[in-house]
Amino acid sequence: MTNISKFSDVYIKTKEKIKQILSELKIMDTAIFDYNLSLLSPIKTGGKCACFLKINSKQKLIKLINILLKENVKFYIVGNCSNILFNDGFLNFLIIKLDKGFDKIEVLKGKQALKIKCGPAVNLQKFIIYLADFNVDFSFAAGIPGTVGGAVIGNSGSNKIGINDFVKKIEYISLKNISNHVLNNLTSNSFNAFFKDNNKSIDSSCNNNFNFKIANIKTKTLNNKDYKYRALVINDLLVLTGVYFELDFSIKQVEYKNFILGNNKIEILNNIRKKIKEKKASQPVRRKSLGCFFKNPSDSIFAGKLIEDAGFKGFKFGDAKVSLKHANYLLNVGNASSQDILTLSKIIKYYIKEKYNINLEYEIKLMGF
Ligand SMILES: Cc1cc2nc3c(=O)[nH]c(=O)nc-3n(C[C@H](O)[C@H](O)[C@H](O)COP(=O)(O)OP(=O)(O)OC[C@H]3O[C@@H](n4cnc5c(N)ncnc54)[C@H](O)[C@@H]3O)c2cc1C
Repeated sequence: MTNISKFSDVYIKTKEKIKQILSELKIMDTAIFDYNLSLLSPIKTGGKCACFLKINSKQKLIKLINILLKENVKFYIVGNCSNILFNDGFLNFLIIKLDKGFDKIEVLKGKQALKIKCGPAVNLQKFIIYLADFNVDFSFAAGIPGTVGGAVIGNSGSNKIGINDFVKKIEYISLKNISNHVLNNLTSNSFNAFFKDNNKSIDSSCNNNFNFKIANIKTKTLNNKDYKYRALVINDLLVLTGVYFELDFSIKQVEYKNFILGNNKIEILNNIRKKIKEKKASQPVRRKSLGCFFKNPSDSIFAGKLIEDAGFKGFKFGDAKVSLKHANYLLNVGNASSQDILTLSKIIKYYIKEKYNINLEYEIKLMGF
């Protein structure tokens, strides 16, 4: 079922409910109603959401989410939106951005191993520069726009390295005993959030059609089953609230998954610059896009190469265009809608399936479709 609604009763009622809730919680000051989602998106497409809210405090977020659940108001958590295609039209959602209060980097211990707790709203590029001060080389993530939270959710990276290869533990909000129907309603295709403000699970009910339990904030040590290429796979995860990195200095100068510990800062900064230069040379990073649209089908089969070999470079649907520079980038070269971008992607998927019998999967997240 689509979550898009025309400027309908549902949309208007959702907006009114949100207004009431936010004013009760006294957090109206960072809310914008009928927010134009294309302003958030680097591909500059998408419709309007009932409300866009920046939130700074975990406690306020916990309260808010509990009320939203009770009132059956849909919500969706975003980082910098660099990987999300928002539907066009009017989306009866509250879009929540974790803001400054979730933007802290904390060094927990710095001798044998560097232990860092990082807030999900921390800018990824700021984080890798920060790590260079500790002689830690995260240049594999250089030039990737967005937040650390968004990167962990998508296990972002390059050259077969994902950020989660270096994550020791995550703190997140988990949702227990909730029906699929409800989960679908609440989360679209992704991770939506709610918190509770104490440590016990509570039963609650949402209008009259379903029951749910609100789960606790949890921490979990990541093992390699919890993530895969471009995905974190934790079924009960609703919102990521903290990321713990642990980097062991005892392995100085030893290559670990192509990641070098113990280089000096100058060398690391050079690696970062080099990586950004390479990325600019091979990808249209300054154009309106969401980065690579499709996942690589395997370690040795690249989506961009398949799309290029199928003759799609430069192919247009309306103002949606396959980049000439890198065929896995779909660009908005004018006034494309999200629907134009999606249609172009579907044409590509169809042909790749026909030609190579390969199902291309989206790397980007679809929101509100
Ligand atoms: C020019 C360009 C180049 C790019 N290059 C790369 C690249 O080289 N490698 C790569 O992997 N990606 C790349 N990307 C994609 C994108 O930058 C990454 O996926 C990035 O890590 C997304 O971070 P974000 O903060 O923008 O997340 P968003 O796009 O805001 O969110 C992504 C997903 O994470 C969820 N999410 C975000 N924060 C939270 C949270 N705290 N709790 C729960 N869910 C959350 C959202 O709901 C959404 O489903 C590129 C994008 C662009 C535009």
